[in-house]
Amino acid sequence: MNDKIFRKIQIENSPHGFCLAKWYQVTLDLSRGQNHSCHHPERHTTPLVELQNSPSALHNTEFKKLQRKKMLEGIRPEECSYCWNIEDTPGNQLNSDRLIKSTDDWAFDKLEVTLSLPWNEDVAPTYLEVMFNSECNLSCIYCMADISTSVEKEMEKFGPYPVKNSSEHRVSKSPALKKDNPYIEAFWKYFPTIYSQLKHFRITGGEPLLSKDTFKVLEFLETNPNPNLELSINTNLSYGKNICEKLLSHLKVLEAKKSIKKFSFYVSLDSFGEQASYIRQGLNLDNFAKNIELIKYNSPNSQIVLMCTFNILSIASFPLLIHWIKDQKNNGLNIVLDISYLKDPEYLRANLATPDLLIILSTCLSELKTRKEFSNYEVSKFNRVVDWIFDSQADVKILEQRADFYQFINEFDKRYNKNFLEIFPEYKTFYQVCKKSALWKF
Ligand code: SF4
Repeated sequence: MNDKIFRKIQIENSPHGFCLAKWYQVTLDLSRGQNHSCHHPERHTTPLVELQNSPSALHNTEFKKLQRKKMLEGIRPEECSYCWNIEDTPGNQLNSDRLIKSTDDWAFDKLEVTLSLPWNEDVAPTYLEVMFNSECNLSCIYCMADISTSVEKEMEKFGPYPVKNSSEHRVSKSPALKKDNPYIEAFWKYFPTIYSQLKHFRITGGEPLLSKDTFKVLEFLETNPNPNLELSINTNLSYGKNICEKLLSHLKVLEAKKSIKKFSFYVSLDSFGEQASYIRQGLNLDNFAKNIELIKYNSPNSQIVLMCTFNILSIASFPLLIHWIKDQKNNGLNIVLDISYLKDPEYLRANLATPDLLIILSTCLSELKTRKEFSNYEVSKFNRVVDWIFDSQADVKILEQRADFYQFINEFDKRYNKNFLEIFPEYKTFYQVCKKSALWKF
């Protein structure tokens, strides 16, 4: 029996529905004072009254403690339905994120102690993800106002898109605290008390390199080493070289002082060339390419995880993206392709593809499978996405979603003064099919 299976059995022998991520993994949105453990349940707000008692309430809210209590009593919390849906599917019991996360190195060695803790005990997370603010220079086509200030400005100016489904997707749900943010203040009291126990720390945004707090973290770690820490930053690399150089000079210090175990850049790119900067509106491809070179020469030990959120507009230039990644790998860049499929908004999902686009997709998969530069992990993630696209072709909502795509893309073009078919000539048939759906549906 391998170690992972042994660990899964140990978790299965714990109370029904018990999950260590509820104690040790947290995502903090400090701009709104919200958090969740793990990232699947809805975010909830830390009440200011709890925060005044202790900055640890950023993670250990009364609400979360009640979810932990349920888990210790063998009751599955409703907010974790993402996992219960998978575990209740026959044959899938050992594949849920509950089992995957709880058996990870940042969680599993806490099993015994956690089972004997009182339910209302505060704990320090070992896997922390933080968003200091949502300031962002890009306005990606699938992004939301609460994550990007550029999208927020667009939505304030133009309002919701004229679509039937997911019309609220890009709209702000809860406004950010602009000044005198007590959650940021609490974070800087809390972080020094927990950083030595952290195994993973990821800074996200917005664009985190536009936040002074990101650099404050780096300075803190330079003088307060944690050699077990894997640090990562989500970044779009679409900024001038001075910002990238500033980050790289901090990484050099961290490396020289052996202050952390590993550093990774998590970089988003969903397709290639002009089509990529249409999807990631505002993406400066020159700056992107220059910053990749800077990383390659100044921080060769850092890993770049290229996150591709595969959507309907990723398909046509995906062959070019594969070639670019292959060339970068052959030129010594430590880069990994990590693909997931876009779920929301529905009108940008890749399973809306027409047969001509599906042919490109199949060719890409065959190509990726034959390229020695790509690992099994990289191929299998794309394979999963392609399988999902083909399996969900019969989705009854596709007609409506295509109609919404037509409405959305025309409005998007107006807002950003673009011409979809000039940038995506391969989508002519697809666009016509969507137009017909719109005439029929609207
Ligand atoms: S049970 Fe699932 S959804 Fe709930 S915290 Fe664990 S991994 Fe996340």
